[in-house]
Amino acid sequence: MAERDSGLLTIFVNLENVDGRLREKITKEMESEFFPNDNNRTNYFKLVYFEPALGGNDNNHQESNKESLRRIELDENGEQISIVKQKVKDILIKLSIDNYVVTVDPNSDLELVISKRTEVETAGELHCRHCGMEFEDMIQLGNHLRIHYMI
Ligand SMILES: [Zn+2]
Repeated sequence: MAERDSGLLTIFVNLENVDGRLREKITKEMESEFFPNDNNRTNYFKLVYFEPALGGNDNNHQESNKESLRRIELDENGEQISIVKQKVKDILIKLSIDNYVVTVDPNSDLELVISKRTEVETAGELHCRHCGMEFEDMIQLGNHLRIHYMI
């Protein structure tokens, strides 16, 4: 019986680098994409918040919830991360968010990070703003971009 669950791993979608309003939009879209009907039983989809500041007042807690969202956890088979990544890419494209990109955390192959495009490009990764494909240099990206303009 226990074996059935042994393939399940948790995939994290890290939203710490995303501005509050965008984070809220992405979270809503993630919910409609990933939230299963039986979530109360499986606990597949989880939102993880920053710990509230110690001694802080709780009055604003409800409103600041979205602001303090840190990441989303999905219990998935580890091999599915590329599928989750593609879905998150699709969400960014659907929301016309082209200043952020999603990458796999170099330190953890179970963590996706949504970061500002400028930061990722500084780190040497190039992503097509139309479809999210990744490239190693500007020449490859430039060649690829043409296919979008020909359509
Ligand atoms: Zn493209």
